[in-house]
Amino acid sequence: MTPVSPAKLGVETLKGVGPSIQALLQKLDIHNLEDLLLHLPLRYEDRTQIRPLGSVQPGEPCLFMGRVVEASIAFGRRRSLVVTLEDETGFLTLRFFHFSNRQKMAFREGRILRGYGEGRFTGSRIEVAHPEYQLFDTVPEEEEGELTPVYPTTKGLGQKQWRRLLKQVCQHDWPESYADLIFLHRPPPHTKPEEIDRAREVVALDELTAYYLVMKHRARERLTHAARPLPRGPQLGRELLKNLGFQLTGAQKRVVTEVLTDLEKNVPMLRLVQGDVGSGKTVVAAFAAIRAAEHKRQTAIMAPTEILAEQHYVNFSNWLSPLGIQTVLLTGGLSAADRRDRLAQIESGSALVAIGTHALFQDKVAFNDLALAVIDEQHRFGVYQRMALRGKGFEPHQLIMTATPIPRTLTMALYADMDLSVIDELPKGRKPIDTRVMAPSQRPQLLEWLSHLLATSEQAYWVCTLIEPSDDIDAASATEVFEELSMCLKPARVGLLHGRMSTSEKADTMAAFKRHDLDVLVSTTVIEVGVDVPNATAMIIENPERLGLAQLHQLRGRVGRGSADSHCVLLHGGKLSSNGKARLKVMRDSTDGFFIAEQDLKLRGPGEILGARQTGDQDFRVADLAVHQALVPKAVERGNDLMDNDPAKVAALLRAWTPGTSETLAV
Ligand code: ADP
Ligand code: MG
Repeated sequence: MTPVSPAKLGVETLKGVGPSIQALLQKLDIHNLEDLLLHLPLRYEDRTQIRPLGSVQPGEPCLFMGRVVEASIAFGRRRSLVVTLEDETGFLTLRFFHFSNRQKMAFREGRILRGYGEGRFTGSRIEVAHPEYQLFDTVPEEEEGELTPVYPTTKGLGQKQWRRLLKQVCQHDWPESYADLIFLHRPPPHTKPEEIDRAREVVALDELTAYYLVMKHRARERLTHAARPLPRGPQLGRELLKNLGFQLTGAQKRVVTEVLTDLEKNVPMLRLVQGDVGSGKTVVAAFAAIRAAEHKRQTAIMAPTEILAEQHYVNFSNWLSPLGIQTVLLTGGLSAADRRDRLAQIESGSALVAIGTHALFQDKVAFNDLALAVIDEQHRFGVYQRMALRGKGFEPHQLIMTATPIPRTLTMALYADMDLSVIDELPKGRKPIDTRVMAPSQRPQLLEWLSHLLATSEQAYWVCTLIEPSDDIDAASATEVFEELSMCLKPARVGLLHGRMSTSEKADTMAAFKRHDLDVLVSTTVIEVGVDVPNATAMIIENPERLGLAQLHQLRGRVGRGSADSHCVLLHGGKLSSNGKARLKVMRDSTDGFFIAEQDLKLRGPGEILGARQTGDQDFRVADLAVHQALVPKAVERGNDLMDNDPAKVAALLRAWTPGTSETLAV
C-alpha cells in the first residue's frame, strides 16, 4: 500500500498553528500542507559566507563573526545595549534596544559571536541592529552554511514562523514528485543559484502544464454545451460589403469566414480575434451581428469605455440601418425615460443590436433572444466568461476582440480554451507612423512643428499620464498642457478629455474632435483603446517612460488611420533609465505590435500583455512568464502527452495547482 500523501493535511495539524495563524494563512489561500509547499521563497539570504567585519556593507544582510571587545549600555534618546566586535579586518557595532540583563552579561570580552543581520550607516560607522546571533567560548567549527529562504508574507507572519512551518512540512514523508519543491524550501549547503533556477523551472513547468490542462478541459467542456446554430441566411452581409466604401483585407475575409463558420455550429463559439490597432476588427463583428439578425436574433456589443461604445454605435448604425437592422445604444448618461425605452426595445426584440459598456450589460438587460455577445478589447475586461447573458437553455456565441498582441508561444497554452483568429494585415494605403523620441529641451521645436501641421487642417492628440499636477509625480498633466497649448498654438482650437469629466462632457468633446471642431485633443490615456479619427495624424505622448509598451503601441495606433503621413512623438521627461531608453527605442524602430509585445515581455515582464489573465483569478504562483516563456510550448507538449498517457498525473497536477476546479474536472 502506498503511504497516504501529507498533501491534503490541514495546516492546523502543524505544531504552532492555532486559529489565528490558520486565519492568516487562509488569507494567502493556504489551507493544507501542499499549499504551504507551493508557497515558494521569494529569494534566499546567503548565509554561506562569513563576511570580514571590515567589509560589512550597509543594506546587505550578511553573516559575520568576531571577538566581543566590549558590551555597554548607551543612554541616548533610547537606552540601548551596544556590543563591539573585532576581527583582523576591523570592528563592527551591534545595537540592541530590547535586551535583558542576562543577555548583556553573556557578552563577555573575548567570547566569539557569530551573527546575521543587515548593516546600517549611522553617520560615523556601520551598525547592525538586533542581529540574529550565537555566542561561543572558542572559535566554533566551521558550520556548513546554508541559503536561508525568505518568504512572501502578510502582516502578522514573520520569516522565522514561515521557516518553522516549512521545516515541519518538509519533514513529512513526501512522494518523490515533490522533491523539487522540498529542495526549494531547504536547499542543501552549497547549492548554486543555477540549481535553484532549475528546480523552479521544474515546478513552473508543472504549473503551466496544469493551467494548460484546465484550459483544454474548458475547451472540451464547451463542446458539450448547446448553442443555437445560425446558418447562412438571406446574405445581408453582401449588402454591407457593397456599402462599405472599402475592400476587406485578405485577413479580414479569412477571419469573417472563420467566425461565420463557428456560428453555423450548435456549440457556442468562443473565438478571440487578435488584430493590431487599426486592422479593422469592428467590421468583422458587424458581419457576425448581421448573421444573427438574419435570424431575427440579437447581438450584444460590449465596449470598455463609453466613448468606444458611442463610436461603435455610429459605425453599426451606419452599416446596419440600410439593411433594416435596428441598433440601440445604452450609456450611463441616458434619461430614465430613454433608458426604459431602449431596454424595452431590447426586450421586445425590435432592436437586434445593443451596444454599451460592459458595466451596463452586467446590470440586468433582458434580451428577447440573444444569439451573440461581442466583447471588444478584452484585456480591459477581466473575466469575460462569467457573463449574465444566458437564456433559454442555450448559450450565446462569443466573439472577443483584442488589439493586445499576445505572442503565439503564449496563446497556444494560455488561451487554449478559445479558438483564435489573427488579422495580420493592415488595410491598404496605411503609411507607417514616423516615430521620434524627443527630450524636454526640444519642446519649442515640437510646438512650432505642431502649429504648422494644424495649419494644414490635420489634427493631433496630445496625451499626458496625469490629469492634474502632482506633488509626488514629476510628469506633465493634461490640465497644464491644455492651458499651455491653448496659449501657444493659437488660433488652433484645443480640447481637453480626461476620466474625471462626466460621461456627457467626454462624449461631447470626443464628438467635437471627430467633427473637426477641435484641432488638438489633450487627453489622458482614456483615448487609448479603439478611438478612430482618420484625420488625426499626430500623436504626442508626454512622459512615455511612465507607460507600458503595449499601451504606447495602442496610443500610437490612434493615428495612421487615414492616407496622410502620420507622426508619433515620444516626449520624455529627461533622465531616462537605460531600460527606459531601450523601451523607447523599441517604439521608435517598430510599429509591429507582436514584435513590440515580445520586447515588452523581455524588458518588463508580461503583466500588461496578459492583462486580466495575469492579474486576475488565474495568477501564476510560481511561473513567471518573463523568465519562463520558453517553458510554455513544453507545457503544451507535456500536457497533450499526459492527457493521452497518464491520467493519474493529470489528476495530480490539477489537484495541486487548481484546487476547486479539480473536483469538477472529470479526467
Ligand atoms: P481596430 O481593429 O483597431 O478596432 P477599426 O475596426 O476601428 O480597427 O478600424 C480602423 C479604421 O479602418 C476604421 O475607420 C475602419 O472603418 C477602417 N477600415 C477597416 N477595414 C478597412 C479596410 N479593409 N480598408 C480600409 N479601411 C478599413
Ligand atoms: Mg477596435
